[in-house]
Amino acid sequence: MGSTPSSMGPPPSSTGPPGSGFGQPPNNMGPPSSMGQPPFGPPSNMGQPQHRMGPPQGNMGPPPTSMGQAPNSMGSPPGQTQPNSMGMTQPPNMGHQSVGPPGSQTMGMPPQQPGFYQQTPGPGGFPPPPGHGPPPTSMGGMGTRPAPQPQQPRKLDPDQMPSPIQVIEEDRRNREELFVTNARGAVPPLVSTDFSVQDQGNCNPRFMRSTMYNIPCTSDIIKNSHIPFSLTITPFAKLKPQEPAPPLVDFGELGPVRCKRCKAYINPHMQFIDGGRRFQCVYCGCATDVPNEYFAHLDHTGRRTDCYNRAELCLGSYEMTATKDYCKNGVEPKEPAFIFLIDVSYNSVKSGLVQLICERLKDDILVNLPKEEGVEESEIRVGFATYGKELHFYNVKGALAQPQMLVVSDLEDVFVPLLDGFLVKLSESAAVIDSLLAQIPQMFAESRETELVLGPVIQAGLDALKSAERSGKLFIFHTSLPIAEAPGKLKNRDDRKLLGTDKEKTLLSPQNNFYTKLGQECVAAGCCVELFLFPNSYLDIASIGEVCRLTGGNMYKYSYFQADIDGDRFLEDLSRQVKHSSAFDVILRVRTSTGIRPVDFYGNFYMANTTDVELAALDCDQAINVEIKHDDKLSETDGAYVQVAVLFTSVSGQRRLRIHNLSFNCCTQMADLFRSCELDTLVNYFSKQAIRNILNTNPKQVREHIMNEVSQILACYRKNCANPSSAGQLILPECMKLLPLYGNCVIKNDGIQGGSEISTDDRSYLTHLINSMSVESSSVFFYPRLLPLHTLDPDTKEFPSAIRCSTERLQDDGVYLLENGLSMFMWIGHNVSSKWVSSVFGVNSAAQIDIDKGQLLALDNPVSHRVMEIISEIRNERHRYLKLTIVRQRDKLESWFNHFLVEDKGLNGSASYVDFLCHIHKEIRNILS
Ligand SMILES: [Zn+2]
Repeated sequence: MGSTPSSMGPPPSSTGPPGSGFGQPPNNMGPPSSMGQPPFGPPSNMGQPQHRMGPPQGNMGPPPTSMGQAPNSMGSPPGQTQPNSMGMTQPPNMGHQSVGPPGSQTMGMPPQQPGFYQQTPGPGGFPPPPGHGPPPTSMGGMGTRPAPQPQQPRKLDPDQMPSPIQVIEEDRRNREELFVTNARGAVPPLVSTDFSVQDQGNCNPRFMRSTMYNIPCTSDIIKNSHIPFSLTITPFAKLKPQEPAPPLVDFGELGPVRCKRCKAYINPHMQFIDGGRRFQCVYCGCATDVPNEYFAHLDHTGRRTDCYNRAELCLGSYEMTATKDYCKNGVEPKEPAFIFLIDVSYNSVKSGLVQLICERLKDDILVNLPKEEGVEESEIRVGFATYGKELHFYNVKGALAQPQMLVVSDLEDVFVPLLDGFLVKLSESAAVIDSLLAQIPQMFAESRETELVLGPVIQAGLDALKSAERSGKLFIFHTSLPIAEAPGKLKNRDDRKLLGTDKEKTLLSPQNNFYTKLGQECVAAGCCVELFLFPNSYLDIASIGEVCRLTGGNMYKYSYFQADIDGDRFLEDLSRQVKHSSAFDVILRVRTSTGIRPVDFYGNFYMANTTDVELAALDCDQAINVEIKHDDKLSETDGAYVQVAVLFTSVSGQRRLRIHNLSFNCCTQMADLFRSCELDTLVNYFSKQAIRNILNTNPKQVREHIMNEVSQILACYRKNCANPSSAGQLILPECMKLLPLYGNCVIKNDGIQGGSEISTDDRSYLTHLINSMSVESSSVFFYPRLLPLHTLDPDTKEFPSAIRCSTERLQDDGVYLLENGLSMFMWIGHNVSSKWVSSVFGVNSAAQIDIDKGQLLALDNPVSHRVMEIISEIRNERHRYLKLTIVRQRDKLESWFNHFLVEDKGLNGSASYVDFLCHIHKEIRNILS
């Protein structure tokens, strides 16, 4: 909508026809609540997607009659009798999925569908056959039957363990539609479901997701449940094309309307009283006078007559222009600037990087400089510098015939020697910039410099932005460890042997505080550092990455970079990063209802106090987690509210606020809590907590903490919400039946567990990425998407159905695509049909495929077209350009590919899904006994 003057005009005489305002609900849906209370029935019915309540269906597992049959035909899985990383010598054997007892309703729960496993100890450590009565067929459920030959170790059939594919597919079937945000406490569809959102008072879940939507009124319930109340906030998330961006509201001189006590911003949940003269704050309860300019009468239901014409009164998300009070030193900001700092050392030149950047920067990258919608030209200023052991700044003032170079060789106290002509508008200096970019590769073609600086590069960029009084970004293209004599010099301290040991945290922490302090200076000045790294050896990402972590910057890593092979990927990443830059000099604050408060924050940012999250820049895929705890009670009637306010400078240099509001139900029953949890968000939180614990504890404690939380949550459910049943049964809450699987995926992830096959820098790099992942990114990162390609129907536009990440699911004659948002693999079975190979690769057999190329040729046939389309669609969905690695079955690379088959036992000794589930089951029994 851009700026919406029409919304600011005088209110129409009536509330306006449906559809004329913002997200006005259809007539039959009732208005969005401005009362802080849901007009839609009792809280206990809310947020409970119906499909979760039904009996098992589809591919949720074999039909009842097939359950428990012929268990002895399942064989023993490889490794199952060997000790694994969890110290288990014999995973308990498990029985068969059965259905939750219908009696669960007597506990105040709606019928749901717990996964339900059974196990009892037997002779020799093996459980005896499960034997129970007939299944509770009234639930359409599954039962177990006696099995012969109890002594024989049996494998748990993976088909009987909760399947992520089934959960994803079912959500897709049932919720791939419009998600209207008018209901308090509504649990959104899964991130993997292609839904669109109509904002009717609560923000789009792409902006904010919660681990729970029905919050216990008291802290004891939440403590007992072990489920953390955490939000994953992605304030600038990309929306679907059909979803309008949060509109911009301008209150003029008046400035944003706020509660006089807690300073919360006006929103659809605030309640107007006294005939519209005051509004009562939904967060703190205080009543604030409505400024005269903002007054409107109330209708007979107590709503303001203009509420559908004002974004801030009917939408969950909107922006407001900020007045000078919201600007640093009371001065309105200038347009942001991007400074490109190019390493011109020997490695950088030799790999083709310098040439590539200079050739493509202006026409392929700078054309994407971000701008306000509907505006012709970007207001972002640009500047250029190169460096090795010295720094070179360039004057590219439009009036010059040729660019001028200024060398800074005193690096101890670096400053930028020019103010005028360094930061320019692209259109005003196009010819000089062309000339500069043509000259740089020639100037440094013979560079023999192998020792680099980095600290002074960042300091100079910071100084340039500060001098120009602009916020902005430094795009640094850097190749090696900064060992040259200068501030920020680092020594090579890599010692991979330490990874996985108690000492790994020293290696994963910065070696000194230089880059940490520098990062703090940068964030204070609104200077964001985007690091593009091209290492051939150890770079000490744990140290230099601090500047990214504290400023909200991103890191990209292209090991052993070669321009001809990796160039496109790098340019695509750079282009997206430049284009999607959306907010600068950011302060984020979370406000909550009285009774709860934010207590902890996770992500890549800086905090100088306990409430304000500071970032020099924030873009569409960076998330911030906030953990919320009780300091008092909540009430079921009132519900609970969260408001995220993001103060930022826009790409055109306007100071603005972006507000996201979300309302929750409150409950007094544990069962209600368990029905409103969002597992992907919970897993996202656990992963970030693990990243923090890596630096504070040791790998064993990180693992054990997650295992313990998983066990405690499930034991709590079992104890409080499930029907009494034999202790041997594993009963999982419907919305968390994948918790054991996903918990294990976090534990065994390269970023969390590491291991000797991961380099120190890769480990630090991954922890940096995980630390700011949105739920959308983390869900596919921890459990990759695996798509069969050999069965593609070239005539349909549908994606093939994903399969579970296990070698057992791969067929020798199949071809599969695996992606996790960072990497993409194509696995080719050794018996694949030569027809398929020739359609896609243009050669006769898999052996002839040139796997080093990592690129597919577009061949003129339907299969090739469709494969190319799928790869390109996946690449467009993700925030980073996915490199394609082709892996032939039985090739050396296969073990690396197998690494991503997360249901299997890992290379690093990590547990398989089966083993882990058995282990968790044992833990739950220990807790309960
Ligand atoms: Zn208030």
